[in-house]
Amino acid sequence: MNLKDLNERVSAARKETEARGETFYPGPSRVHLAAFPPRERWDDWVELESKAWPERVERRYMLVPTTCFNCESACGLLAYVDKETFGVRKFEGNPEHPGSRGRNCAKGPATLNQVTDPDRILYPLKRTGRRGEGKWVQVSWDEALDDLAGRIRKAIDEDRHNEVMYHVGRPGEDGFTERILAAWGVDGHNSHTNICSSSARAGYQFWMGLDRPSPDHANADVILLISAHLEAGHYFNPHAQRVMEAKARGAKLIVFDTRLSHTATHADVWVSPYPGSEAAIMLAVANYLIQHNLYDREFVHRWWNWEEYMAVEHPELETSFEGFEEVLKNLYAEFTFAYAARESGVDARQLEEVAVLVSTAGTRFSSHNWRSAAAGNSGGWQVARTLFLVNALLGAVATEGGVFPNAWNKFVPKPIYTPPHPPRWNELTWPREYPLAMNELSFLLPHFLKDGRGKVDTYFTRVYNPVWTNPDGFSWIEVLQDENLIGCYVALTPTWNETAYFADYVLPMGHGSERHDIHSYETHDAQWLGFRQPVLRAARERMGDQIKDTREVNPGEVWEENEFWLELTWRIDPDGALGIRKFAESQERPGERLGVDEYYGYIFQHSVPGLPERAAEEGLTPLQYMRRYGAFEIGRKTGALYEQEVGEDELEDARTDRFGRVYTRTAKPASPNIVPVPAPDADAEGRRFVGVNVDGKVLRGFPTPSGRLEFYSKTLADWGWHEYAVPFYIKSHVHQDNLNPDQTVLISTFRLPVQIHTRSANAKWLDEIAHTNPLWIHPRHAAQVGVKTGDAVRVETETGYFVVRAWVTEGIRPDVVACSHHMGRWKLAHEGEGQRQLMQTVSLDHKGSEWGLRRERGTAPYTSADPDTTRIWWADVGVHQNLTFPVHPDPVSGMHCWHQAVRVRKAETSDRPGDIHVDTEKSRTVYRTWLQFTRPADTNSPDGTRRPYWLLRPLKPARELYKLPEEVINRQ
Ligand code: SF4
Repeated sequence: MNLKDLNERVSAARKETEARGETFYPGPSRVHLAAFPPRERWDDWVELESKAWPERVERRYMLVPTTCFNCESACGLLAYVDKETFGVRKFEGNPEHPGSRGRNCAKGPATLNQVTDPDRILYPLKRTGRRGEGKWVQVSWDEALDDLAGRIRKAIDEDRHNEVMYHVGRPGEDGFTERILAAWGVDGHNSHTNICSSSARAGYQFWMGLDRPSPDHANADVILLISAHLEAGHYFNPHAQRVMEAKARGAKLIVFDTRLSHTATHADVWVSPYPGSEAAIMLAVANYLIQHNLYDREFVHRWWNWEEYMAVEHPELETSFEGFEEVLKNLYAEFTFAYAARESGVDARQLEEVAVLVSTAGTRFSSHNWRSAAAGNSGGWQVARTLFLVNALLGAVATEGGVFPNAWNKFVPKPIYTPPHPPRWNELTWPREYPLAMNELSFLLPHFLKDGRGKVDTYFTRVYNPVWTNPDGFSWIEVLQDENLIGCYVALTPTWNETAYFADYVLPMGHGSERHDIHSYETHDAQWLGFRQPVLRAARERMGDQIKDTREVNPGEVWEENEFWLELTWRIDPDGALGIRKFAESQERPGERLGVDEYYGYIFQHSVPGLPERAAEEGLTPLQYMRRYGAFEIGRKTGALYEQEVGEDELEDARTDRFGRVYTRTAKPASPNIVPVPAPDADAEGRRFVGVNVDGKVLRGFPTPSGRLEFYSKTLADWGWHEYAVPFYIKSHVHQDNLNPDQTVLISTFRLPVQIHTRSANAKWLDEIAHTNPLWIHPRHAAQVGVKTGDAVRVETETGYFVVRAWVTEGIRPDVVACSHHMGRWKLAHEGEGQRQLMQTVSLDHKGSEWGLRRERGTAPYTSADPDTTRIWWADVGVHQNLTFPVHPDPVSGMHCWHQAVRVRKAETSDRPGDIHVDTEKSRTVYRTWLQFTRPADTNSPDGTRRPYWLLRPLKPARELYKLPEEVINRQ
């Protein structure tokens, strides 16, 4: 159906609905959502009780919005709170949410399974035996808080700030915990990003100064996705629905995915490249556009930093745009379709078909690469950089149907307190070997600790499970068992996980409907703010109850992180002597601890344009408005902000340098949220960077060092990576040249659309749909190995092997095998630990550096408060393949390069699917090998700093901390 037909059907539906005297409810997204309850009736919504059928029994509900926490998309949910029992009966989509527009994937409604999970952790637990022995005692929150506050205070008193570390998987609110850490003065933020998306981020950041793309899929004519975005990619549901909208309008979809994923089945053109060759293909597409003059000359002329490139790299040539065009033609001439076909194994004619299709898109070309090829391969960041090269050639940047820098389609409000940058630099997370890493080298922590680079006194994980999620999990277990390396480990988690078994404290945290956060993501060309809230708290408050602490409404003693961090901060500095307490103090009631109502009330009142006025129209405070509707749209169609003209009033004593960068003495505007933040922040005389001079006008430009789109990254060139300063092709560590004849590539990165990493282990609806991860293997390859579907195979990596069942399919290339990373969850045979719906019971053997994980039994029916647990019919829950992967840190982006060179052979008779064997000494060897590939700041820094200041970094330390240590500078 095209858009015109859709609109006609919507009008007809409106007329019919209104003719019946009922309210037609289009929702804020202007999409016909008549199936959703009109928001005027959210206080008292009536539905028939399905279980009473065939009798008509009415049930009355209060509908309370929150935000899904089961992936990074932050879709809106609507909790149906039964007014009789005050329990949540179901979750559906929130039609008021501009990103998800009332729609969810299967994981959204499955929040109910998580909330009612009979195996979840309900009370704070403290270890009593050895780490990992499975002995726990229930403790009070007060006891846990006082102990942890005391440890952290002592570390601060003794100037051991860097021994406090917080390691996050799924972040909740943008910046909340970073600010808590800043208040403590510790550089202790550690994230999962370097095992997730940092390579793609690097590719985008080096181009546009911001690390994520925001594709306007809905308005594109041609969409190019690298990986399975329609089913499991970044901003999955919000993007997927817009891609399908564009397809319904006639847009063409190109999908690069080695597997025949669900997304690939929806493509007009499906390309199945050899892993790591994607950048070669994108350069062939770019070369086609360049050689045939099919690019937007005016855009390239105005917005690429070609002048800087010519001046630095070709000083012998006259700096003219025509000269640059000649250089460009030569630069990529080798990337013919024939070359790309050799690298990718894809027919050159199909690659040409892709290029021709792309060339028709003009500025309506949307594209996206996030994990997938960027995360799988060494040099994967060039996949994102070469993909964006095509957008930059077409001028499809911040256009309708093009790709925006994410920050322009996202809104981050100013909080009540902004503590100063921490006065420390933590080399355990930001080592000098990786000066350009996008994020913390989190997955190298066990090796750094074993190397003696430092220790951790108090280590928090939050919605994170490094033993299971990271590569090289046995090395994690080794350091977690060593109290000299990690003094106290605190797992903040709603559910049991493979790392929590080795904790000192396991502290129960809420799921998406049991906690507060605010979210804003680049789901389309608009800015919106979503509010996650404990729905029972909001429901009780609607009934007139006063709730002071979210534990009053959550099951057991489940808390939320935000209240926990505020309380912990309060206790670290009870009298304010450390200067920390003031960042957790109420402004309304001095001397008392800040509460979440005041915290969010302040933000919604003072920092969200238009929200107070909109709330007032309904007689609500901004906080009441957000508690009632869960989301607010701040603006639509942000457009090409880089073209925004800088006003004369911002150009006091302005100076322009030789590349057109303009610096001013005017102070920064108070709320620069939607204008790009310039990166080169001052000239030699202290003026602030304000924009670039383009054809005689000062325009905002991009937040890069040049103020333009950086075809040429002087940063890369200056920091030792000169050969990769322009978008180029880097042969992957699993390139055919790097493989032995008996090796093949294992793709280990793909997601299953209905699983959620660690937290879905007891989401029963999801588990029933997907509970195992067989090895995708092509029939020809399977015949060589001598296996058929269901047979066990051994997959050998550099450090060990895993045993998995084969799934013989033509949906994978013959030279590649694939296995989803979502499965293989396990628990030890300890009473009360683990989740029984998706975790197998295993034994761990350990001798020296040799580790074995043996499956003792799979899942089975069991008796619990939920009768469905007696109906579990699946036993095989797959294999934890990540345990057998050594670390592969990309020397530029710092990203773990997930793809593996493996040998696949028939399993031995004693092998059981799920079995693992690993030698962690071999992991050490691989770690040391990859460390050799780096170009450290010590020898490559052009200016005596550890890292370019302009690059993004969560929790930036104070600027003076960027200087390399004195002894290093003296050695240089
Ligand atoms: S895409 Fe699915 S899991 Fe992700 S936030 Fe939306 S509903 Fe939740």
